[in-house]
Amino acid sequence: MKSIIHKIDCPIYSGTFYVCFDRETVKKKVTEFSDNWSGMACEYKDGALIYLEIHDEGSLCLRTLTHEVFHAVDVFFSKKGVEHNAGGSNEHWAYMIDWLSGKVFNCAANENKLKGK
Ligand SMILES: [Zn+2]
Repeated sequence: MKSIIHKIDCPIYSGTFYVCFDRETVKKKVTEFSDNWSGMACEYKDGALIYLEIHDEGSLCLRTLTHEVFHAVDVFFSKKGVEHNAGGSNEHWAYMIDWLSGKVFNCAANENKLKGK
């Protein structure tokens, strides 16, 4: 089955997050990738790309998801010129990480449906 890259439009900041759960697909899209990685995030097109491994039973590793979502938001905000202020409340970061995490879970659910899980 052909793997897809899920798109998550971010209307507030005008850009896109891309999520892919297929290692071979991601390898073709990025310049740096290691087979030891269970997740990664990098700049991609008008936003950021996240790769996450889905376990055989269809679940994601929450630790890897939060780690990569943070990196994706960091890449995305850097690209948009949105700053992180150490010591500030940084609600814009917290909300973006919150929102994107939910979207990534939805992408995983859709991916599982496509694969009949
Ligand atoms: Zn990292």
